[in-house]
Amino acid sequence: MIDSHCHLADKQFLHDLEEIIIHARDAGVDHIITIADTLEEGERCIEIAMKYSSRLHDATKKYPNIFATVGVHPHNATQWRMTNGQAPTIKLRSLLESSTKVVAVGEIGLDYHYMNSPKVIQQNAFKEQLQLAKELGLPAVIHSREALEDTWNIIRETCPEKCVLHCCTEQWKNVKRFIDAGYFLSFTGIATYPKSDEIRHTIRECPLNQIMIETDAPYLPPEALRVQKGTRVRNEPANVLEIAKCIAETKGISLEEVDRITTRNAIKFFTLPS
Ligand SMILES: [Zn+2]
Ligand SMILES: [Zn+2]
Repeated sequence: MIDSHCHLADKQFLHDLEEIIIHARDAGVDHIITIADTLEEGERCIEIAMKYSSRLHDATKKYPNIFATVGVHPHNATQWRMTNGQAPTIKLRSLLESSTKVVAVGEIGLDYHYMNSPKVIQQNAFKEQLQLAKELGLPAVIHSREALEDTWNIIRETCPEKCVLHCCTEQWKNVKRFIDAGYFLSFTGIATYPKSDEIRHTIRECPLNQIMIETDAPYLPPEALRVQKGTRVRNEPANVLEIAKCIAETKGISLEEVDRITTRNAIKFFTLPS
């Protein structure tokens, strides 16, 4: 099983990252993609992916295969600017080319819900990063919140080879065009919430061979683990199983099939060594 999108570099994992990684492995997660929100976090994601690529002391046990992405999240789009006379594309390109552990550009996109950066700044950061993904032949991990039309227009303009719309909460009629264009949808624990009928409708309609699963940990714990003793829990990659279960139930197919196909999808999408 693959957690195709989580944030291992998040400070919430700082004190027990190795435990979290081993916990995921014990839950059957054999690949993890750790996603960056800033260029600095991208460096940390690469470090994590490299650090945990070796075997554990016990030679019979391995860490899951961890891979990294680098990109600037729309929340941080104001950081996408010249620093010390250097264009941000130069820094991003050098990080993307710095390690075989880097498998995608992301997360990049538009977020008009929080609007932490003005629209035009978000759009420019998104376009330039998507263009670079295309140029380097890398897939793009897209974040889009309350900004689907502009997201789609920028994607159509740029025509990247591979895109995944991560944490998809959209109605099928709005995202069908992404599927028709050969792109992917990725679902999080939000799909497991009682109110998420629209998302489950999208899951039902979307072909399984264009679906990926993710936790977006430490955020968005699935329903079964959402509240413990009245406090909000931290999500972790081991919980990706809950999303696989939700897809299986929603589509009326076996968990084994969901695991097999979504794993295959992610291996192909990110070009991971299988
Ligand atoms: Zn996101
Ligand atoms: Zn994320």
